[in-house]
Amino acid sequence: MKVCRTIEEMAFYSQDARASGRDLGFVPTMGALHAGHLSLVERSAAETDSTVVSIFVNPTQFGPGEDLEAYPRDLEGDSEKLKALGTDCLFFPTPEEMYRDGYATYVTQERLTGVLCGVSRPTHFTGVLTVVLKLFNIVRPHRAYFGQKDYQQSVVIRRMVKDLDVPVEIVVLPIVREDDGLAMSSRNAYLSPSERNDAVCLHRALLRGRELIGKGEASAAAVVKAMRGVVEGSPGVRIDYMSVVHPESLQGIEKIDGAVVLAGAVFVGGTRLIDNIIVERS
Ligand code: AMP
Repeated sequence: MKVCRTIEEMAFYSQDARASGRDLGFVPTMGALHAGHLSLVERSAAETDSTVVSIFVNPTQFGPGEDLEAYPRDLEGDSEKLKALGTDCLFFPTPEEMYRDGYATYVTQERLTGVLCGVSRPTHFTGVLTVVLKLFNIVRPHRAYFGQKDYQQSVVIRRMVKDLDVPVEIVVLPIVREDDGLAMSSRNAYLSPSERNDAVCLHRALLRGRELIGKGEASAAAVVKAMRGVVEGSPGVRIDYMSVVHPESLQGIEKIDGAVVLAGAVFVGGTRLIDNIIVERS
């Protein structure tokens, strides 16, 4: 596995791969890799000629007081996992390399970034879009793989790619979960054993919402109330939001008469976790 630490090295690797006619797959991550990340790497390895994975804990997507410093980092373990899957190239830049002296340019997006996670993390998606566009420009992949786990992120990135004519195909893959349903996340490492038990209430709440819709409930308010009720049954868990939204506009809806996304974010102790389910109404 080739390891690139600088933008120049990474860009050279990509140019070379493209010049020899190879299809490039790209999986951007913040590291501390788990089976969710690895599902994206496996799919890229199966569908493209060369897979590039980036590991970059991007400072611009963390707000003040968030967990930038504490975010888990495990380069050695991650490298082993990536090698075992046949990853061709790891891009592992420093923050100074990505945001060089005098850095001044950011990508903002209207509408889609002001809802759901954007309410409590108002600068988050600007950081995400900025780093993802930079990574696309450096790696120049044919396809890039993202997880449905970060549903809003996937919608926001698709919108950017469309709006700014970025020549990359976006592939979004399903959420990989622990046996009890908790969505895998690098942040799960923060949870104490009792918090880990509590954390599963988020997924249970979404399942409860899906069940109600399956039984014919058409009122989004009733579904939200039921989902909140499940989370409120776990005293150590605080709700950031529990919402029923349109899959593309991400706007809250009142009457459920088509596909919707049930999305939630909660704090378990100091750890913020997110999850979602897409529900197709038949
Ligand atoms: P992160 O390292 O958290 O920035 O995530 C990197 C990529 O992995 C993003 O596209 C995430 O949506 C995706 N991802 C994270 N957790 C999961 C999961 N449990 N299942 C599938 N994809 C995931």
